Amino acid sequence: MRIYLLKILLLLILTVPAYAEEIPQTLTITNSNAWPPYSFTGENGEPRGLLIDLWREFGKRNNKQIKFILTDWSKSLELLKSNKEIIHGGLYKSIERSKYMDFTKSLKLPLNTRLFVSTKLNINKLSELGDFPLAVTKDGYAESYIREKYPEIKLVSYPNENVISDSRLAFVTDYPAAMYHLHKMGIHDKFYVAETLYTKQLHAAVSKGNKNLRKFIEEGMQNIPDQEINRITQKWIQAVSVTPDWFLPTAIAGFGIMAGGFIFLYIFTLKRQVASRTEELRQMSQTDMLTGLYNRRKMDEIMHHEFDRFKRYNTPITFILIDIDNFKTINDTYGHAVGDNVLVRFAEILISNTRKTDRIGRWGGEEFIVVCPETTSGEGMIIAEKLRQRIAETRFPTINNCTASFGITEINQQDDFMSLFARCDTALYSSKEQGRNKVTMT
Ligand code: GH3
Ligand code: MG
Ligand code: MG
Repeated sequence: MRIYLLKILLLLILTVPAYAEEIPQTLTITNSNAWPPYSFTGENGEPRGLLIDLWREFGKRNNKQIKFILTDWSKSLELLKSNKEIIHGGLYKSIERSKYMDFTKSLKLPLNTRLFVSTKLNINKLSELGDFPLAVTKDGYAESYIREKYPEIKLVSYPNENVISDSRLAFVTDYPAAMYHLHKMGIHDKFYVAETLYTKQLHAAVSKGNKNLRKFIEEGMQNIPDQEINRITQKWIQAVSVTPDWFLPTAIAGFGIMAGGFIFLYIFTLKRQVASRTEELRQMSQTDMLTGLYNRRKMDEIMHHEFDRFKRYNTPITFILIDIDNFKTINDTYGHAVGDNVLVRFAEILISNTRKTDRIGRWGGEEFIVVCPETTSGEGMIIAEKLRQRIAETRFPTINNCTASFGITEINQQDDFMSLFARCDTALYSSKEQGRNKVTMT
C-alpha cells in the first residue's frame, strides 16, 4: 500500500512539471496567408485578421507570446504534421484531417461556405453544374466535402488566393473571404451566391496526440470572454461582408465629396441668390415702381454726380423739368387708376424720345426730370420741344389728350445745386404761366 502511494506521488511530481514544460512560452500559430478576413498578411507582411486578433488576445490572457507562421493553406496543414509544437489557428474539422491532427473545442466562430456562380451561367445548385469546372481551395474542407458528396463534379484546385478570379465560372469558398476578394478585385457584380453548402464552426488544432497543448488551448480560450470574441468578430466580419475594407474609406470619401459638392453648390446658389436679391433691392431702391424710371432719390444722386462732373470737366449739362398739365383734373375726372396709366404712358414717351445717355426720373407726382449730359441748353430745347410735341400728339387711353410744360436750364460755373434746380423750376413755372404745353429755358 505504502509503495503504491509512493508511486502515485512520484507520478504526480513527474507529471505536473512535465505538463508545464510541454507548453512553450511562445506559441506558434499557423494558418493561411491569404484567407481574409480570418488570416492573411497585410501590405507589409504583417499578420492580420480575425483569427490573428483572437490568438493575440489568447496570448494576453494566458501570458504567452504568440508567433505566427502564415503560409499557403496546404503548407499550414503540413506544418502540423512535421512540428509537434505548432498550433493551427482555425479550420474546419474533417475525418481526413483527424488522421494527423487533434481539434480543440469550437472557437465559437461559425462560418458558412457558399457556391458562387458567374452571372454568365444560370445555376442555382451544385448539382446543376454539369460539366462546368468548380474551383475550390487546394486541401480546403470544401474540396473533400464536394468530392465525397458530389463525386461527379469536376473540381479544379487552386491555392487560396487564386480560387477567386473573373475567369472562373463557379467557385466554392467561405462567404466573408469571397466577399473580401470579390470587392477587392472589383468583380463582385460578376458573381452571385447560388447555394449555401454548410455552416460549420472553426476549431484550433494541434499535432495528433499533443493532448496537453490541446487542453491548454481549450482552457485558455475559456479565459476570453464572449463579448471580446464578439468584438473581434464584429470588427472583421462586418468590415468585410457588409462593408468591405475599401468600402468605409470610399464611402467616407464619397460622402465627403458629395457633401462638399452639395455645400459648394448650396453656397454658390446662395451667393447667386443673395447677389440677385441684392441687385433686385438695389434696383428697387432707385426705381419708381409705377413707371420704372429712376426715382427721386436716384435722380438726386445722378444730378449731384453730374454737377460735380461739370465742376471738374466743365462739359455742358442741361436739366429738363417736366410737369403734366392739369393732371389733377385727369384724376378727378377719370379716377386715380386712369391717372396712373397716363403716368406710365407718359414715361414711355420720355424713354423712347431721349438718348441713351440721358437720365430720366420721376421727380414726384406728375413731375419728371431729364438730365442730358454733354448737352447745351440749345440742344436741350430741341429735345424738350420734341418731347412736348410727342406728348401733345399722343392719344392716351381713356383721356385722349394730355400735355406737359417744360423748364430748361444749363448748368453754369456760378451754380450750386440749389440755384440750378430753382432756375429750372422757375422756367417750368414760366411755361405754366404762358398757358402750359410750353418749353421755357432760363
Ligand atoms: P398744373 O398744370 O398746374 O401742373 O396742374 P396739375 O393739376 O397738374 O397740378 P397739381 O399739382 O395741382 O396736381 C397734381 C396731381 O397729381 C395731384 C395728385 O393727386 C396727382 N398725383 C400725384 N401723384 C400721383 C400718382 O402717382 N398717381 C396719380 N393718379 N395721381 C397722382
Ligand atoms: Mg405738379
Ligand atoms: Mg401738373
